[in-house]
Amino acid sequence: MIVPKLLIVVPCYNEEAILHKTHQRLQRYREELVKEAMIAPESKICFVNDGSRDRTWEMIDGICTNDAHSVGVKLSRNFGHQSAILAGLMEHIDDFECFITIDADLQDDIEAIGKMLDQYRDGAMIVYGVRDDRSTDSWFKRTTAEGFYKLMQRMGVPVVFNHADFRLMDQRILREFAHFKEVNLFLRGVIPLIGFRSEKVFYKRFEREAGETKYPLKKMLVFAWNGITSFSTFPMRLVLYFGVFNFLIALAITAYIALSYLTGHTVVGWTSIVLPMTFFSGANMIALGLIGEYIGKIYEEVKGRPRYIVEKKVGSEQSAV
Ligand code: UDP
Ligand code: MG
Repeated sequence: MIVPKLLIVVPCYNEEAILHKTHQRLQRYREELVKEAMIAPESKICFVNDGSRDRTWEMIDGICTNDAHSVGVKLSRNFGHQSAILAGLMEHIDDFECFITIDADLQDDIEAIGKMLDQYRDGAMIVYGVRDDRSTDSWFKRTTAEGFYKLMQRMGVPVVFNHADFRLMDQRILREFAHFKEVNLFLRGVIPLIGFRSEKVFYKRFEREAGETKYPLKKMLVFAWNGITSFSTFPMRLVLYFGVFNFLIALAITAYIALSYLTGHTVVGWTSIVLPMTFFSGANMIALGLIGEYIGKIYEEVKGRPRYIVEKKVGSEQSAV
């Protein structure tokens, strides 16, 4: 049986109200897992301070001084949830074999960590935590969040439905992930692109026990927009579709205008103004859409994502990956 050296990464932004409790609960759970020989005794918990304006960092500092199984990372300013997770993972990529990311408010059920490890020991390289019960979320949060996943999927973004950033990843996954150089990071979209065997673990999402959400509506919208535009050129393609639609309508209007002109139902000058206007606005939009298509291609290129990832090789000298 594999007994991995595990790192649990916890991004923290203004979490002073709940940090001690989170530390205690995670640490207790970590010890249980060590006792059950599910993880190695050197496994640790990493708290990443994402430029908090409250006492979060002082608290993390204190926790790490007294607890040999906690480590802290302080970012120089607020970089956002995704970058905080990234920092916690990448700063320790060589030191641990398995990584789990979880929010500081413990809205995600920590008991799911054990189930994730079971899947890991069965050979899964990525295990997604999926909320299958959102009854504690407000109607608004639930509807907007689930609508967001559906919209993303329809636009071709490979997100896992109802999975946020509670997931387990093998060290190998992080090594491959390091080749994705994009600055606008949207982990939920990138991780499924990496491939390898993945599994899901279902759990119930709890309410936030203390402190308040760091994702007010405005931030949520920015996050969703970033996710969509980082993975899909669909919004841009809409311009092209709209242009073609406009153009077809312009053709119909053109026929109407020509007919009106021929039957003498027009005032002088009307035809020569209205006809080019409708016609060229449709043509313009198509042209814009076409330019957009090329910009889309440039956008795909500059992201410089890997074009393939090899999982294993056999029969060659480099087969031991
Ligand atoms: N967070 C962060 N940086 C930010 C915003 C949030 O590191 O700029 C962390 C926050 O401390 C928490 C996690 O991201 O651990 C998720 O935030 P929150 O629980 O407020 O989001 P919600 O669950 O309400 O969507
Ligand atoms: Mg939360």
